[in-house]
Amino acid sequence: MTCLKIKKLLSAIAIAISVIFAMSSCDLSIYADIPKSFVSGGGTLVAHYLDVGQGDSIFIELPNNETMLIDAGENYHGASIIEYIRDCGRDRIDYLIGTHPHTDHIGSMAYIVRNFDIGSVYLPNVSTNTYTYQKLLEAVKKKGLKVKTGKSGVKLIDDSDDDLRITILGPVKTDVKNLNNASIVLKIEYGETSFLFMGDAEKAELKTIKADLSADVLKVGHHGSDTSTPQSLLDSVDPKIAVISVGKDNDYGHPNPKTLKRLEDIGCEIYRTDEEQTIAVTSDGQNIDVQTGFRTIERE
Ligand SMILES: [Zn+2]
Repeated sequence: MTCLKIKKLLSAIAIAISVIFAMSSCDLSIYADIPKSFVSGGGTLVAHYLDVGQGDSIFIELPNNETMLIDAGENYHGASIIEYIRDCGRDRIDYLIGTHPHTDHIGSMAYIVRNFDIGSVYLPNVSTNTYTYQKLLEAVKKKGLKVKTGKSGVKLIDDSDDDLRITILGPVKTDVKNLNNASIVLKIEYGETSFLFMGDAEKAELKTIKADLSADVLKVGHHGSDTSTPQSLLDSVDPKIAVISVGKDNDYGHPNPKTLKRLEDIGCEIYRTDEEQTIAVTSDGQNIDVQTGFRTIERE
């Protein structure tokens, strides 16, 4: 073999090795921003508060291996939310919850129903004539599913073997004039830990909820607006961790400085999707861990 041929052979080997490395780093990059423990599932609860700008979308991997999606952001996030869920190694949403029919919560829900495997769909018992809401109902019907009413007292999971309970605490009565006050308020209890999801519930709805609201992790209501986190709520919940789902430089001035001050005053750790992108909170039933900044749901 001539010197030139050896050089060519060596350079071919080098190219092959670099291609293999590039491919493996490409594979790794799919999961690089989602810690491996999140992908395995089973025994661990992971709540991913997705960065969908001004809106809400929370994907939850339950310790019994089922999954839940609470809200789905505006109407341009559908494909990215599905991609995120797939990157977690999941191919089904067992419980799809639309907290209330505003576009920053159910915007991409029809797309997700059309394009993903869905178990049950829960919505509050209010209807609106908006295009987004009607399209969602149409998608659910076409899929052969029926909307279940999300209201106070409904238990989605009550499993003492897994020490896992998921209960809807609100709405107690639905406010048809202010849809925020029809928000599904939902609590997940796993072992000694608990998570509360407020939708956009305001003071008027909060007053009607008599159930135990105490929780370690609070998804702050209505993007941190002053209407939704009065001191009386914080006294009831007594959260250690607060997550605010909010868009950068949004037009509403969310989160309200008074809400932030109230959360700071009780010594709560505050995480915001506009500052830290997607926030993942994990629980093994005893300990809670927070990881931030590993994925943004890009606008399509
Ligand atoms: Zn909202």
